Amino acid sequence: MTKTHIPGIHHVTAISGPPQPNVDFYTGTLQQRLVKKTVNFDDPGTYHLYYGDYAGSPGTILTFFPFADAGPGRAGPGMASAYAYSVPAGQFDGWMESLAEQAIDFEGPVERFGKRVITLRDPDGALVELVETTRTSDDALDGFHSVTLWLRDLAPTAKLLTDVFGYEDRGSENMNGVERLRLAAPGDAKGTVVDLMRSDAPSIGRPGAGTIHHVAFRAEDNDTQLAWREAVASAGHSVTPVIDRQYFNAIYFREPGGVLFEIATDPPGFAHDEPLETLGESLKLPAQYEGIRDRIERVLPPIKSAA
Ligand code: ZN
Repeated sequence: MTKTHIPGIHHVTAISGPPQPNVDFYTGTLQQRLVKKTVNFDDPGTYHLYYGDYAGSPGTILTFFPFADAGPGRAGPGMASAYAYSVPAGQFDGWMESLAEQAIDFEGPVERFGKRVITLRDPDGALVELVETTRTSDDALDGFHSVTLWLRDLAPTAKLLTDVFGYEDRGSENMNGVERLRLAAPGDAKGTVVDLMRSDAPSIGRPGAGTIHHVAFRAEDNDTQLAWREAVASAGHSVTPVIDRQYFNAIYFREPGGVLFEIATDPPGFAHDEPLETLGESLKLPAQYEGIRDRIERVLPPIKSAA
């Protein structure tokens, strides 16, 4: 067991409207793989969709609860406001050309911490950033680069990330009245970066479609997760017991700025209940819902993946 620092992001979970446009955007435009099609364990009449790289590796996983009747949400202070993917070395101009050819709107590029960034909106308005990196990869995108947390006060969250998670302060930038403090996990895992953003703009967030529900960080195994649980509790945060999420074990707590954090284990992973080659193709249900599979399949809208 090693517990010196959290290696990076495990997954990000967001809320969307109807599932098909969401599937089209993430498997089509962004070329992610639908690695798991299951249901919201607390509301089995709703999907829980997972996108990632071929294997659904930690640091590449974006998940959605698509609520057909979700009203539009809006990010604000106390919420995660964007997720960013790493564009592998040499691919950034190609991405911009390809998006332009497909008539997909994006903003930028702007320079942030010395790297170019463009911003897209997914079909529900969620902010998706593509960040130029020097990483090499055969994939179109190399998993997450970062998440941005929108906070009224950066210090308490920064302290949690440095003192408990073992993240390093990478300095701050100020652009148009928006302060951005960058923290990063040591090492070269995917998704090491967390940007803390403070804006002078008066704004109140509202949960709903197009907003991020929580950000999950990685624990290498169950013992390491328990050690992190102890560390988070010792730092004065109220943290849940370990919850079995079928593909990982999870603990949750609210960080001081208001964003829901999770720490999720790398094992057992997405090939736990179906072969790697056919991940995401059939509806997977946890044991407690297999008995009502017929009813669940009748209420879920059919979806078709591009990849
Ligand atoms: Zn989660």
